[in-house]
Amino acid sequence: MLTLQHSYATDLDDEFWISWEGAEVPDPRVVLFNRTLAGDLGLDGEWLQSVEGAEFLAGMRTPEGSRPVAQAYAGHQFGGFSPRLGDGRALLLGEVRGPEGRAWDLHLKGSGRTPFSRGGDGKAVLGPILREYLMGEAMHALGIPTTRALAALTTGEQIVRQEGPKPGAILARVASSHLRVGTFEYFASRGDHDRVRTLVGYALERHDPELLEAEDPALELFRAVRARQATLVADWMGVGFIHGVMNTDNTSISGETIDYGPCAFMDTYDSATVFSSIDRGGRYAYGRQASVMQWNLARLAEALLPLFEVEDTDAAVALATEEVEHFAPMFLEQWTGVMRGKLGLADTRSGDAKLAADLLDLMADDGVDFTRAFRSLSDVLRGDPEALSALFDDPDPLEAWLSRWMDRLDAEGADREAHAASMDRANPIYIPRNHLVEEALDAAEEQLDLGPTRTLLDVLSDPFTMRPGLERYTEPAPSDFGPYVTFCGT
Ligand code: AMP
Ligand code: MG
Repeated sequence: MLTLQHSYATDLDDEFWISWEGAEVPDPRVVLFNRTLAGDLGLDGEWLQSVEGAEFLAGMRTPEGSRPVAQAYAGHQFGGFSPRLGDGRALLLGEVRGPEGRAWDLHLKGSGRTPFSRGGDGKAVLGPILREYLMGEAMHALGIPTTRALAALTTGEQIVRQEGPKPGAILARVASSHLRVGTFEYFASRGDHDRVRTLVGYALERHDPELLEAEDPALELFRAVRARQATLVADWMGVGFIHGVMNTDNTSISGETIDYGPCAFMDTYDSATVFSSIDRGGRYAYGRQASVMQWNLARLAEALLPLFEVEDTDAAVALATEEVEHFAPMFLEQWTGVMRGKLGLADTRSGDAKLAADLLDLMADDGVDFTRAFRSLSDVLRGDPEALSALFDDPDPLEAWLSRWMDRLDAEGADREAHAASMDRANPIYIPRNHLVEEALDAAEEQLDLGPTRTLLDVLSDPFTMRPGLERYTEPAPSDFGPYVTFCGT
């Protein structure tokens, strides 16, 4: 059994949620279970994988007295505002307390229709559920804030999707909260500033308790979210991650990566890369993620600004504008820091951002694999430039760049092996390459064979350490793979 707490249902009134339960499904079975995460949270992994545990994780049997809810939120989707989205196929079971006393949401995806479902069936299918599991665990191992999968279940149902019937599935995930920019927009758009204020208090309690006594709590919350998101997007950029659906309802107050729908890792470097089938205008392309995040933060600032402690609306708008604009330099600083790590630079010098950008330009010119190129830089320092230069069609501009980089490194004085070792801790060798993810998900959906998914999860759990026998996980997609297109997972 498992003890849940319900601060969302008890600290916040019923405008914030609707009491709900998971749909009955014929045969809930845990097909993947995250033992490490369960252990970290002090959860009873054995029980969770039992028949009763699976019914619990499907949301069908919640313990006496528990208060599962579907959360209300709004959101800007591809720029257009939807005043009422909410958990249309999800359920917040409650919160678990980790050993250090922190509350973690235990949340289901694919648990059936809710009053927020609109035209949807409330269900999820196995492929997208496993994609979220894989991607989240990969991100976690890369050291990037993320929601995490606790378990993936099959339901025993067949769910009809465009491509035909698919195995039904549920994801049980853990997050430091499911507060979204869209949660604030939900109340702000109705002019309900009292509940925005309540939400500010709740969010600070969950994420920034040290700011609860601040003079301007709404402003401080905004700044905290801005800082977390600047770090998060810089981290994404550093591993070639494209979220794919950066709507404000998928932008978490916690600064965790959330809602792995059409996301994917870029292979060939091109800042215009888009994988999502519905992102026709490239709004959420790799290179646009920082400016989109700034736009999303502007929506958060709009929701919060009536609460800012200033004399009038004009002053609030001016302050909000300035605070939002400050995201750009903050992001640049974070991004430059990430790139310094990837280039083995420990000190801060003024030309560093340009040095990194120039390498990316060379990679774009020659269509070079992002992950391999960065990982091969440390080989150059160890006297083996072949792996890197083989990736480029035109070695001359690369040579010129390498000598600039070497001069910059030598200016720091550390020995080259020290730089190389630090780079190998910043540049992953194993990422969830699209063809490997597809191979794993196909085996799962078509033959209910989770073997390839388990193997891939294992490879991705230690992305920085080269291990013999795993060469195929470092290789780019075969030439007959692609162009790669991802879907929102409904
Ligand atoms: P997402 O694109 O997954 O971030 O979802 C956006 C909105 O659509 C959220 O309100 C979801 O709950 C809702 N939604 C997505 N898929 C479904 C579905 N199959 N059934 C009901 N609602 C859904
Ligand atoms: Mg979402």
